[in-house]
Amino acid sequence: MEYGINRDFLLKLLSQIGPSGNERNASRLWQEEAKKFAKVYTDTHGNAYAEVGKGSPILMLAGHIDEIGLMVRYVDENGFVYLAPVGGWDPQVLVGQRVRFLTKDGDVLKGVVGRKPIHVLRPEERERAVKIEELFVDFGLSKDEILKRLDIGAYGVLDWDGEMLTQERLVSRALDDRIGAFVVLEALRMYAKEPADTRMVAVATVQEEIGLRGARTSAFAVNPDIAIAVDVTVSTDYPGVPKHQIGDIALGKGPVLAIGPNINPVIFNLLREIAEDEGIDVQIEAISRGTPTDANLIQITREGIPTALISIPCRYLHSPSETVDLRDVESAVRLIVAFARRVSGIRKEDFKPW
Ligand SMILES: [Zn+2]
Repeated sequence: MEYGINRDFLLKLLSQIGPSGNERNASRLWQEEAKKFAKVYTDTHGNAYAEVGKGSPILMLAGHIDEIGLMVRYVDENGFVYLAPVGGWDPQVLVGQRVRFLTKDGDVLKGVVGRKPIHVLRPEERERAVKIEELFVDFGLSKDEILKRLDIGAYGVLDWDGEMLTQERLVSRALDDRIGAFVVLEALRMYAKEPADTRMVAVATVQEEIGLRGARTSAFAVNPDIAIAVDVTVSTDYPGVPKHQIGDIALGKGPVLAIGPNINPVIFNLLREIAEDEGIDVQIEAISRGTPTDANLIQITREGIPTALISIPCRYLHSPSETVDLRDVESAVRLIVAFARRVSGIRKEDFKPW
């Protein structure tokens, strides 16, 4: 069965500004879309929930709606704005970029990330990596003009949206992890057309990039029987990324199933079996500790929740040009829906690892 994902909605979702701590615009758009086919609700932390089905088990799907970003920390006398990083930046990526910040009245203010040019860099400065405190944003405005429009603490992102490189390759900032929030919603949309017993709760979690914080609160709230987190993972199919350290992960070869202590083996085996039955190629990634994803905190919520992690292979993570293959995205959606149908009526006890 072929399933066309909703590309227009995905591109719109990617264009929203949503760093950890201000996921409002991205979450609102996600909720608006979810309301077309699901019951939608939110919590005081900012997580958004969309659910379909009334039976059991309760299957929680988590995709974090936040992205790495920037905050206004200090505006100097000449209107140069110094930044607090939101999430894990390589500051080299910021040099020379254009940025857009959310203003007090919900508008957007554009600026450029400045740094002195190579002409005046001292030899030792050329040798070492730039630090974020050496960078500033130039909005072309005075200090007063800036503070009229931006509060200290205003959030911004790099000024890039999504675009198709080829028919299947999508490049964008914020694919980590808007693509996961998208996958869980698309899975819910597809499941809603013909729901089984399973009660599927898709969650657009917040604040993943600063410590998996929305997964902690939302998993407690949903109290699911089983859970799947959807995130991106580092692909190793481009220069400089060592396969011997990470494994063999490539774009276009299917969604990635993580295996390791963070993953419930019963769910893992079931996902692999279903993939085979459905003719979906998957890749396996060995992660020998808690994964750096929502799956980590979901698994150790309450008395423990059987959890799995499905990842979309991604190149150039935490840059404005994160790249994924939409065939992997579509396969991830199909795999999750088939899983939801297969576990229909199964009890949590059946997921005991031994
Ligand atoms: Zn992520």
